[in-house]
Amino acid sequence: MPNQKFSTLSLPKTQLLNLEELGYTSMTPIQEKALPIILKGRDLLGQAQTGSGKTAAFGIGLLEQIDVRQFTTQSLIICPTRELADQVSKELRRLGRYIPNLKISTVCGGTPIKRQIHAMGQHAPHIAVGTPGRLLDHLERRTLDLADVKVLVLDEADRMLDMGFLDEVEEIIQYTPQRRQTLLFSATYPQDIQAISRKIQYKPEMVVVEATVTEAPKIEQSVVILEDGRDKSDATLNLLYQYAPESTVVFCNTIASTIELAEFLQDHNIDSLALHGDLDQRERDQVLLRFSNHSCRVLVATDVAARGLDIEDLSMVVNYDIPFDAEVYVHRIGRTGRAGKTGIAVSLSLAGKGHRLEDIKAYTEQEMIEIPFSKLVETSPISLIAPMLTIEINEGKKSKISAGDILGALTSRGGIQGADVGKITIFPMQSYVAVKRECAEKAVDQIWNTTLKGLRCRARIVKGE
Ligand code: AMP
Repeated sequence: MPNQKFSTLSLPKTQLLNLEELGYTSMTPIQEKALPIILKGRDLLGQAQTGSGKTAAFGIGLLEQIDVRQFTTQSLIICPTRELADQVSKELRRLGRYIPNLKISTVCGGTPIKRQIHAMGQHAPHIAVGTPGRLLDHLERRTLDLADVKVLVLDEADRMLDMGFLDEVEEIIQYTPQRRQTLLFSATYPQDIQAISRKIQYKPEMVVVEATVTEAPKIEQSVVILEDGRDKSDATLNLLYQYAPESTVVFCNTIASTIELAEFLQDHNIDSLALHGDLDQRERDQVLLRFSNHSCRVLVATDVAARGLDIEDLSMVVNYDIPFDAEVYVHRIGRTGRAGKTGIAVSLSLAGKGHRLEDIKAYTEQEMIEIPFSKLVETSPISLIAPMLTIEINEGKKSKISAGDILGALTSRGGIQGADVGKITIFPMQSYVAVKRECAEKAVDQIWNTTLKGLRCRARIVKGE
């Protein structure tokens, strides 16, 4: 059934015309489900991905509530990153073209705050779109007033929580009126999202749309036939030299192989870590976060340990050992080739022992290109050093440390640039921040020489296994 037209909704003629001009002929599934609820003024919990048209879903809704004659901020959209905030502002400007004198401000770090205050000072924006740290900064300076907010939107809420912004977001919400419409969008729906929804929403209606079906992931599958089991480590090394992937998971069938192979690769200048069931929780957390924050390029894992590993955009998967089960094979290689990119999956198979691979080929009905081992060993060594290093800080959530505190401490007093700081992960008792390798020593000094929430903290570069 084709999706419905926007004209089935009660929207002003000028907006319907605008949507037509934008080429939005019919509603996307999230718009079709969410807009009637949003236009009724109800709270909404929307599970939708970027690309689903969710910005227009909340944008069209919130624009209906804006009274441009009032020079107050009537809608606030909180986003996890500056890029998303910019994108949202842009889309809102397009959607709001039919409203004369509408003012939309983006409130993010990266621009000097003085200039932002000046721009906002003329008169308050009707709509503010921003990231948590900078929004809070303005609220504390009283350069942003949220007392008239009618519609509050949390966009990509799961990412915001992942980035450790929960406390900041809750603090910002304290500045908005209790009586308001709250729209929460999230690509996933884990428990912490349910918890924040219960806290900040009033009887929300939930809508879920399936991820838009894009083309099937493209995965280039190949196999290296080896004469001797001892060649497996060399073959893995040479594959890494040949493809120089950003991030790779090598799957082994035993714990011992993961440890041996990770050490072998480290000895050859490749930042690699082993992930297996003998690690305790803290070690496991550290390995996972070092891999996901780009402090490690190769993860050598068993299937069980890799369960729950959710890393998008893996460049390559290597089957050091062929799995016993074809389904496990499909699961392993499905971790590469996401987000429209072509993934690489290479399996190492011993000559004369190809039957497991034959089963897999029969199961997947897909081709595997054979790479001769002799060709592989011709590749010349390169070093695969990860671009980031992880810093551990000995305080965390229990001390009320937030991502913003850490970012602030690192960049204060001419320290390091925001662009040199990567993922920040806060655990109850400690925190981790990824920084560009060349800034790591300086980052450690910055933490030692300042305070976080008034506390003197210790910091160190996480090295080794
Ligand atoms: P979003 O998921 O909000 O990032 O939107 C994805 C893209 O879809 C944006 O470039 C929008 O401009 C576009 N878009 C949103 N709604 C529609 C629609 N109803 N028809 C066509 N394009 C749309």
